[in-house]
Amino acid sequence: MAKIPIFDGHNDTLTRIFEPAKGELYSIFERNESGQLDLPRARDGGMAGGFFSIFTPPPDGSPERDQAYGARLSKNGYDVMPRSAIDPDYAREFTDAIWDYAEKISSDSKLRIVRQYSDLENCISGDYMAIIMHIEGAEAIDSRFRRLEEYYNRGLRSLGLVWSRPNIFGEGVPYRYPSNSDTGPGLTGDGRRLVGACNEMGIMIDLAHLNERGFRDVQKLSNRPLVVTHAAVHAICPSSRNISDYEIDAIADSGGVLGIFFEPINIKLQMARDGGFANDVALNEIIRHFDYIVHRVGADFVVIGSDFDGADMPGELRDVSCLPKLLKAFSEKGYSRGDIEKIAYKNWLRVLRETLN
Ligand SMILES: [Zn+2]
Repeated sequence: MAKIPIFDGHNDTLTRIFEPAKGELYSIFERNESGQLDLPRARDGGMAGGFFSIFTPPPDGSPERDQAYGARLSKNGYDVMPRSAIDPDYAREFTDAIWDYAEKISSDSKLRIVRQYSDLENCISGDYMAIIMHIEGAEAIDSRFRRLEEYYNRGLRSLGLVWSRPNIFGEGVPYRYPSNSDTGPGLTGDGRRLVGACNEMGIMIDLAHLNERGFRDVQKLSNRPLVVTHAAVHAICPSSRNISDYEIDAIADSGGVLGIFFEPINIKLQMARDGGFANDVALNEIIRHFDYIVHRVGADFVVIGSDFDGADMPGELRDVSCLPKLLKAFSEKGYSRGDIEKIAYKNWLRVLRETLN
């Protein structure tokens, strides 16, 4: 099979490589042992571009810095204490520092921050790797949207309204299993206005980690395709972060996409020998999530949303260079080349053509 380019819905590579307090930990231009994504390995994997996220972690010294903080495990699942809101000023400073770094590395001709649809077509032909700038959790955005405009002018084209915590726009789901995503109130008045502002400016709205009422609010308010950049299927793995059948149908009705991520505990929760949960899962378990959507609504509405550098990865997809294994597995499952191309990049191109101004 001739190489098919891949466009990926979510990675946390910028936030992983650059720490505002320490600077650049390693170079994205060199092959690394640490981390899951760099340019040489992205080329090996056929990655043409993707959404590069800026995520503001809980501040230094906060116990919430530890992902397992406040987690209660049982035989049947887990329940992690809800996370607190973070200070918008801290989020802005953090976001700006990572943004400066993103601009620095993308002044190299091998990486480019994409501002319009036509830039994407060139990345698919292999001229450079496309970076779509994404903010995960809108804490750095103020309610008058001055910062939204500023970031737009710097290249912001995708915004996750929430991470798994509340902000002035809405509420994310806490980490819980089993659980649905009906865990709190919908969007605030500012959140509803933010949807309109993003629609108008041509910023894609990412519904990843948003609770169910917030999802339904965006469904009512938005005039663009509905998108979840990185999650999995709730009917297969019933965690709070995964996407319900109702939401899958709504995404398809709107012409949007669901990006399937590879985080083992959200693909299939399995006990490990030490009494915790296994952080590995077989490739065919990931394929099941893609297949579920293909059978329910069709191959036009599912894409890849790895979460490289933001989550544990399964052994078979341990870094970006492994992505061709996923395409091979689709082929072995009997998917046509046309469908594989849609899942690999064409669906993303369609959604972005309809979303970016
Ligand atoms: Zn995420």
